[in-house]
Amino acid sequence: MTSAEIRQLFMDFFRNKGHEIVPSAPIVVKNDPTLLFTNAGMNQFKDYFLGNKKAPFPRVADTQKCLRVSGKHNDLEEVGVDTYHHTMFEMLGNWSFGDYFKKEAIAWSWELLTEVYKIPKDRLYVTYFEGDASENLAKDEEAFNEWSKYVAPERILPGNKKDNFWEMGDTGPCGPCSEIHVDCRTDEERKQQSGAELVNKDHPQVIEIWNNVFMQFNRKKDGSLESLPAKHVDTGMGFERLVRVLQGKQSNYDSDVFTGTLAAIETITKKKYDPNTPETSADWHKAVAFRVLADHIRAISFTIADGQLPSNTGAGYVIRRILRRAVRYYYTYLDYKQPLLHQLVPVLATQFQTVFPELQQQQDFVAKVVKEEEEAFLRTLEKGLKKIDEIIGSTKNKTIDGSAAFELYDTYGFPVDLTKLIARENNLEVDEEGFKAEMQQQKDRARAATAISAEDWVVLNENGSTSFIGYDHTQAEAKVV
Ligand code: ATP
Ligand code: MG
Ligand code: MG
Ligand code: MG
Repeated sequence: MTSAEIRQLFMDFFRNKGHEIVPSAPIVVKNDPTLLFTNAGMNQFKDYFLGNKKAPFPRVADTQKCLRVSGKHNDLEEVGVDTYHHTMFEMLGNWSFGDYFKKEAIAWSWELLTEVYKIPKDRLYVTYFEGDASENLAKDEEAFNEWSKYVAPERILPGNKKDNFWEMGDTGPCGPCSEIHVDCRTDEERKQQSGAELVNKDHPQVIEIWNNVFMQFNRKKDGSLESLPAKHVDTGMGFERLVRVLQGKQSNYDSDVFTGTLAAIETITKKKYDPNTPETSADWHKAVAFRVLADHIRAISFTIADGQLPSNTGAGYVIRRILRRAVRYYYTYLDYKQPLLHQLVPVLATQFQTVFPELQQQQDFVAKVVKEEEEAFLRTLEKGLKKIDEIIGSTKNKTIDGSAAFELYDTYGFPVDLTKLIARENNLEVDEEGFKAEMQQQKDRARAATAISAEDWVVLNENGSTSFIGYDHTQAEAKVV
C-alpha cells in the first residue's frame, strides 16, 4: 500500500462511520495565546470541547499538519536521532463532539487496525489510565473493559499520568487516554522478550501509533481540573508511523513518505544515505543529517506555505531556528556549502499536491524565502563555526558560558539550541540562564533606544527620510545576519 492509499483508507473508514471529513487547520496558530503551532489534531476543535461553540458536525475526521518543536510537546532533539519523532507530522484523527464515547472509539480503532490495515493482533498492545491519587483521578475501568472484548489481558497495560493522561498544554482540554502500540521486532526478538515490557520505553521497534483521548476535563490556569460540559473523543494517529508499520519498514524514513526527499538529497549532495548506519560509526552524523534534512524541510515548507515567515521573534523564530539547524547539518556533515533546502521544496509540493495543495500553489514563493534564509545564514556560518571551535577549546567546567553563547547568537546568528546541539556533540553544556540574562540585557538596551526615538514619533532612516516601521520590523532587520 502506498502512503496515499493508507491515508485514503482512514478517511473512507470514518466516513462510513458517519464522520464528516474536514480539512487540516493551518499549522500556524494565530488566535490562541497558549499555542504557537498546531501540536495535535484537536487544537482546531478546542472551543467545541470547552463548550464555547457548538460543533457543526457531531463526528469529524481529518489529517492534521502538526508541529512539535516548542512548548509542552517538543520533540526537536529526538528528530533524526530516532526513527519515529518528527518536527512536522500528519496526525490522522477522528472526533466525537458529545456524541459516541469509549465503546465505539475503541471498537473502531481496533477494527481499522486489524481488519482494514490487517496489522497482526499479536503485534499490538493497548494501554489505559491507571488513575492518579494526587489529582483524585480514577482508574479508567471503562476503557479496560472495552479493550477486554478484543484484546488478551496480558496485552492491556496500565499507564501513568505521563503517558495516559493527555493534555494539550499547561491549560486547556485534557483527559485520560488509551494508546495503541505496535511491536515491529523480529519473531526471534519477540520470543526472547515480551513486547509488554518495552511499551513506552523508547524502544525503536516498539512504538506508539495511536492515541484515543477521552476528553472530560479542562485544566485551568491555577492548575486545577474542571469537568467539561460534555464528554468527547479525540484521537490522533501518527501517519508516518502507521505507513512505516504497514510498509514493513524499520524506520519512518524508509517509508514512501520520505524516500523521495532522501533520494533528492542524495542526488544534490552526491552522497549516499545508509539507513543502517550504527550510532558507533563515524558516519552516524551523516545519516542523522539526511534524516534531519528530510524532516526539517517539511516543517519549514508547510509553515511558510501557511503564512509564517522566518523572523526573529515568536513563531517566525522557531522556523528560523529549525532552518539554521538544518543548514548546519548539511554544511558540516554532508559537506555541502550552498543553499540546499530550497531545492527540496518542489519534491514536497508534488508529493503533497492533492492532500495539502497550498504548498504547490506557493511553491516558488516558499522556495525563494527558504533560499534567502539559507544564503543569509551561510554568510556567517563558517566564521561562527570557527568561533565555536575556539570557545569549545577554551571552555572549562564542561559548560559554555552565557556570554559566549550570546555572542554566537548576536554576531553569527546561532540560535541557542544550535549552540547547545554542537556543545552536546562535544560533551559540553551551555549556561542557558546566563544566555537568557545577556538576552534580557540586550532587550533592555533596545527598549531604552526605542524610547528615545518614540519621543519624536519617527525613526530616522539612513537616507534621512522618516517613517515609523514598527518594533517587530526594526528588530527583524537588525537581526538578520
Ligand atoms: P510519543 O510518546 O511517541 O512521543 P506522544 O504520546 O507524545 O508520542 P500523542 O500526543 O499521543 O503522542 O499524539 C498522538 C500520536 O501522534 C502518537 O500516537 C504518535 O503516533 C504521533 N506522534 C506524536 N508525536 C509525534 C512526532 N513527533 N512525530 C511523529 N508522530 C508523532
Ligand atoms: Mg511525545
Ligand atoms: Mg506517548
Ligand atoms: Mg500518546
